[in-house]
Amino acid sequence: MTTMLKNYATDAWVEATGGTAVIRSAITGGEIARTGSDGLNFAAMINHARTVGGPALRKMTFHDRAWMLKALATAIMERKEELYALSTTTGATRKDGWIDIEGGAGTLFTMSSKGRRELPDDVVLIDGEVEGIGRDGTFIGQHIYTSLKGVAVHINAFNFPVWGMLEKLGPTLLAGVPAIVKPGTATAHVTEAAVRIMVEAGVLPPGALQLIVGSVGDLLDHLGCQDVVSFTGSATTAMKLQTHPVIARESVRFIAERDSLNASILGPDAGPDTPEFDLFIREVVQEMTTKAGQKCTAIRRAMVPAHWLDAAEAALKQRLGQVVVGDPSVEGVTMGALAGQGQLDDVRRQARRIGAEARLVFGEFETVDARGVEPGQGAFITPLLFRADHPWTSALVHDVEAFGPVATLMPYTDLDDAIALANRGLGSLVLSMFTHDPQVAREFVIGVGSFHGRIVLIDRDSARESTGHGSPLPMLIHGGPGRAGGGEEMGGVRGVKHYMQRTALQGSPRVLSAVVNRWLPGAPRHHEGPHPFRLHFDELEVGRCFDSRERIVTLEDIEHFAEFTGDTFYAHMDEEAAAANPFFHGRVAHGYLILSFAAGLFVDPAPGPVLANTGLDNLRFVKPLMPGEAMKVALTVKAKAKRNDEYGEVRWAVQVTDGGDETVATYELLTMVAF
Ligand code: NAP
Repeated sequence: MTTMLKNYATDAWVEATGGTAVIRSAITGGEIARTGSDGLNFAAMINHARTVGGPALRKMTFHDRAWMLKALATAIMERKEELYALSTTTGATRKDGWIDIEGGAGTLFTMSSKGRRELPDDVVLIDGEVEGIGRDGTFIGQHIYTSLKGVAVHINAFNFPVWGMLEKLGPTLLAGVPAIVKPGTATAHVTEAAVRIMVEAGVLPPGALQLIVGSVGDLLDHLGCQDVVSFTGSATTAMKLQTHPVIARESVRFIAERDSLNASILGPDAGPDTPEFDLFIREVVQEMTTKAGQKCTAIRRAMVPAHWLDAAEAALKQRLGQVVVGDPSVEGVTMGALAGQGQLDDVRRQARRIGAEARLVFGEFETVDARGVEPGQGAFITPLLFRADHPWTSALVHDVEAFGPVATLMPYTDLDDAIALANRGLGSLVLSMFTHDPQVAREFVIGVGSFHGRIVLIDRDSARESTGHGSPLPMLIHGGPGRAGGGEEMGGVRGVKHYMQRTALQGSPRVLSAVVNRWLPGAPRHHEGPHPFRLHFDELEVGRCFDSRERIVTLEDIEHFAEFTGDTFYAHMDEEAAAANPFFHGRVAHGYLILSFAAGLFVDPAPGPVLANTGLDNLRFVKPLMPGEAMKVALTVKAKAKRNDEYGEVRWAVQVTDGGDETVATYELLTMVAF
């Protein structure tokens, strides 16, 4: 019986009412499911996201949303075997499935933890420090981010049906923006199952997530200036969507992750007898065969010093000869199938184009002995390695992406040539360099940086822990210029900002502090009530402060501190030498003595709600203190962030001043305070 995939629209599972497409097994070619989106009211879906999903998400703080991501990731992990079973039908091995399914959940876990550690327990995100404008400090500037009030439309490629969805969903939901996901049709059954798992987890507010398993119909016609389209797929489709009249007219944000001719370079120092040579060979083969080469980040161009071209070819062929193509569920198979017959036809077509300018040195276009599969069945192909001896006269090897286990080996003459060849791809997602020479690495990075979104430098020291050429990581950006689409995703909190608007706020410190829920210099400070160390987390409001008494710092204090700590640096102990220093007129107090005295001046020592001092941020010693000068300290609650039900982090703005009210030191003190 054929399974009909369902769309998830306006919080209900909906089957297509008209035409459907067939999803076939990549292994047997047999029908697995039918899918389609005819009959959906796309305008209503957008409206639902905007009027129900968005408001619900924006009521949650970044931390609430981060906890929600963790719950979604946990639900995926608990039911991962359901996804692995479906993943096999797309031609994926268990290892390929792991990247997609557990890699996807891992991305959500990382975004969740970054959201809780790096974003406030609030809905407004501050960008950078206060900009002073007025001379008296009554008019200041502060950049902020707020959530877009629209919907994110995620149009995804077929190759990673789970990860491809989750790597976008994490930042989007964390930003407080609802999403409509449209997966690639060939593997939409896996995405549908993952969405079902997330919906059934019961943690998403209504309208936060919708799914279209089929054409997007007139969806794009209804987009506006608060919406984002995040597209992953081929350059051809990206161009078509990017020039959509509504997207152009309404300045709809458009993030494009397209294909690219990613390169990997064997360093000029990495001869056949070095560990880097072996690592390079292993990586090229790994990238050609993982997901049967259907990875946007896969190595398409492998570049080696000309005098090692033959050695590299021999080593690659030897290793490729060990690859076992076949049904991923059969023992010993190391490379599965392409996602379907359409992909197989496309890979063969593109590989033949490359073959017009480069020599095929490993693999066959048509025949493949796939283990555990009837001859002629499924979307199998052998790895195809080309060799281009004259890469500057072969345009196609730098232009044509065969989205399968296909790569071209080529020589370079010197490092400048390698840089020029790497950049000949006209923009890529990722580039790797295998070198043990830091100077080679630096020269290379400076030469190639502006053309590539990510650069991986691999050598014997990093090999064991290296995540490899082809793995985008949630804490690092994914995307690249030019051919790669010019988009950027993930990169931790950077990815969240793609779904928020940055605004420059101007106003008085009092008003701006209230807007951003953070004490800004010049805003009122609240002295009333007990010492702030006696107040619990929820009693401590932003702006609550403490001003200490004065203390004189004596020469005896400085000498005592020097002897006690061992810090007898001349600026504290030798009058003549200190006076010769351009910063001082004579002996000065240690900065750390000032910090210690500051703590002595502001602490309220009895046990109470303050549990621990967890650090100082942004410490600056502004002006030295001479023996006999006075110091005092002012403490103000700058920001608060709940950590759990027992305690939260309180960030205090600390200013140490001298007897004449001149600033001696400033810093932010971090404490954990009990509820
Ligand atoms: P594709 O044919 O461009 O399709 C990408 C997505 O766009 C699919 O969901 C597709 O839906 C949809 N689509 C196609 N035409 C559309 C239209 N007129 N309106 C709205 N949506 C439309 O690419 P693909 O074959 O799925 O993926 C392979 C390509 O993606 C490769 O070139 C690869 O390099 C690239 N890729 C890039 C990244 C990256 O992060 N940069 C990651 C993965 C893949 P249907 O499937 O229903 O046609």
